[in-house]
Amino acid sequence: MKKGEGMPELTPLTDLEKSIVKQLGKARFPPATASKRFAVGLLNGNVTKLSDKGRRFLAYVVHRFRRQYTLSPQQQEWVREWNIPIEGDMKKHYTKRTVEASAYCPICNKMTQHAVLGGLLAGCLHMAEHPQPEREKAVEDKQGDLFNA
Ligand SMILES: [Zn+2]
Repeated sequence: MKKGEGMPELTPLTDLEKSIVKQLGKARFPPATASKRFAVGLLNGNVTKLSDKGRRFLAYVVHRFRRQYTLSPQQQEWVREWNIPIEGDMKKHYTKRTVEASAYCPICNKMTQHAVLGGLLAGCLHMAEHPQPEREKAVEDKQGDLFNA
């Protein structure tokens, strides 16, 4: 099943990356999105290491919400370096017979098995281990504190 894609190596966030995460704290995200859960995980310290794919997702998120904060030239350069589209992974079509596929999950921060429905990639099968909606709601209620600390 596994075709030697190997374990993507997780490395601790650098100071520059931490400063970029801090910028994300100023942004408001649409509720219940992968972008938001990913940002919250980084901001509340649950995620301290990222793989290359995780860095690409961070750059994608930072770029997507760039109007909500001002990045330093150094931060902008980091985003440019890492903002390599990964949505391709999400839009890939699978055969109708495919029921599972390996794809990057920004919430698990690694490659995971995902369900495939009607040839399209659907949810991560490790969803049960994702942060619970109740907790996310609690975070959202405290968003003022958390995101402006
Ligand atoms: Zn996941």
